[in-house]
Amino acid sequence: MTDDAAAPTCLARPLPGPDEQPAGCAAARAVDGRPLHAAALRFYWGPMDCGKSTMALQMNYNHARQGRRGLVTTRIDRSLGPQVTTRIGLAHEAIEVTDDLDLRILVRDTWAEGVRVDYLICDEASFYSVAHVEQMAELVDSYDVDVYAFGLATDFRSCLFPAAQRLFELADSVARIQVEVLCWCGREGLLNARVVDGRVAREGAQVVIGDTVDTADTAEVRYQVLCRRHYRAGDLGPR
Ligand SMILES: [Zn+2]
Repeated sequence: MTDDAAAPTCLARPLPGPDEQPAGCAAARAVDGRPLHAAALRFYWGPMDCGKSTMALQMNYNHARQGRRGLVTTRIDRSLGPQVTTRIGLAHEAIEVTDDLDLRILVRDTWAEGVRVDYLICDEASFYSVAHVEQMAELVDSYDVDVYAFGLATDFRSCLFPAAQRLFELADSVARIQVEVLCWCGREGLLNARVVDGRVAREGAQVVIGDTVDTADTAEVRYQVLCRRHYRAGDLGPR
């Protein structure tokens, strides 16, 4: 066995310090000089269909109602537009997170326009990059901005998305969303199967856009939540 083989498998580099050291004590003051109020990075995860986007919009509503100002971000929402949409019909405009978007600059630019940012709602966070998650941590620690991230934990192969792994590593709190999604057999759904040509795919690109509503096998690529037993068996149930 080589040293490389024995090394821990961390997909990310060790947590770096901030690009710019904030003036004064970072533990007491945010970068703009405000006293820190103990912001937090929270990650809410669950399989498809468990209501993550609904909860994200509810969280935004609850905070906005108390006079807090926030930004909503997403990546590859089911609408494929710059908005958060939910299966139960709610929608909210959102900023699309691209690889070259820096969440810290997004917040700073918003501040520069005279708009306060107290929190970020980051939907579909498992599709963000690891760097984005580290930017979230810095926003909490140095900018005193709360970050609420929502996303899948695992991909169609049942492996953690890199950004989800980083959120598990760095978040102040991690919570599984408690709304159950059922497999066709009635057991709790846990895994997000990718169905290609009517069969559960075991390999392929980590992110492929597919239909999450159509279960009639008319879509070329679709997704279906299965219990572990039926995910392992590749059993999509009676049609
Ligand atoms: Zn099942």
